[in-house]
Amino acid sequence: MKDSTRAVHGTAQENRQFRSLSPPLLRASTVVFDDVKSFESRGQALYDGYSYGLYGTPLTRRLEDSIAALESGTRSLLTPSGLAALTLTTMTFARPGSRILMSEAAYPPTRDMARVLMREFGVDTEFYDPCVGPIALLDDSVSLIWVESPGSMTFEVQDLPAIVTAAKAQGVIVAADATWGAMIGCKPLALGADISVQSLSKYPNGHSDVLMGSITVADVAHFRRLKDRSRLMGYGVGGDDVWLCLRGLSTLPIRYVRSAATAGILMDWCADWLGEERILHPSRTGHPGHALFQRDFTSGAGLFSIVIPLELSGRVPEAIAAMRIFQLGASWGGVHSLVATSDPRRQRPGLNWLVEGQVLRIAVGLEDPEDLIADLARFRESLLGPRKKTAEL
Ligand SMILES: *Cc1c(COP(=O)(O)O)cnc(C)c1O
Repeated sequence: MKDSTRAVHGTAQENRQFRSLSPPLLRASTVVFDDVKSFESRGQALYDGYSYGLYGTPLTRRLEDSIAALESGTRSLLTPSGLAALTLTTMTFARPGSRILMSEAAYPPTRDMARVLMREFGVDTEFYDPCVGPIALLDDSVSLIWVESPGSMTFEVQDLPAIVTAAKAQGVIVAADATWGAMIGCKPLALGADISVQSLSKYPNGHSDVLMGSITVADVAHFRRLKDRSRLMGYGVGGDDVWLCLRGLSTLPIRYVRSAATAGILMDWCADWLGEERILHPSRTGHPGHALFQRDFTSGAGLFSIVIPLELSGRVPEAIAAMRIFQLGASWGGVHSLVATSDPRRQRPGLNWLVEGQVLRIAVGLEDPEDLIADLARFRESLLGPRKKTAEL
């Protein structure tokens, strides 16, 4: 054997004496076959076997199987991002010439995908108020209903079982963006939805360093349609990211519960200061989603919003700058606590239940609650400024 051959083939033998507790990292483009017959029929391996790295490896299958189990689903498919999962689902199940019904509280890039991309494919989207729901809009021109419950800024919860019952009667698919529930707080497939989508970039990976999504279904026929479409669109995920996500998944339940518990402490503190109507999280009794949350969720995420009174809104940038632990950034579900400003009324003029003011979203990480409250106190002090000091004198 010459060096150039030796360099490629090495001497590595599979070591049957060594079995690691954690899965080995697996990266692959080419998959090799034992004989021409299995090579030439490799297309049949798309759904359950291995034919090419883009279509899956034992490592991606392992993550998909873990997610399917956590979602109470049958099969799961990984995508390069959460948004890719939402787009792939829509492109697979929205018929050209039909309509989609989508919550107007949906993740804004999801709304853009429907409005811009799907329009180009001859699919119209009607946005519905999540407090009212899509049932009255159902007719035979609808092919797909998107539910995002709760919405990730104002946190309205939807009556998913009722939507499913109405949709099934019309043969309409119901898909849920279930990123907030993160497979722990809520399981949409168990509530009857056909499809549950996760942004694994949030809690499931949980360390703000991987972008990935998943689509989980109850019906294997739906999985096959999604897998076919995924192949045609060239979607795939890299082994390193899958490995990181598997590692993240093993601590997902405890991270989720801890983040939610800390959020509860912070919300109580904020409610004492701002008043209950300025705390947006469906676990709060005054929130419009509270009754459905209690019925359909076992826990809420550590992601909520507060509404800063209008007369103080101008001071928010300065007050955020005074914080030392919370950082300013989009996304959530990681170990770091974050704040993000938002203006949900801009795209939702019908948002009439919401009290006036500047919406500030708070993503709670894994830091100690006392340190986070001290940081919120810095925010409050800066926000109230000299006015408060005068009042205290
Ligand atoms: C972040 C997010 C997405 C998109 O996920 P990416 O992995 O960042 O593409 C979709 N839906 C919700 C509710 C999200 O918060």
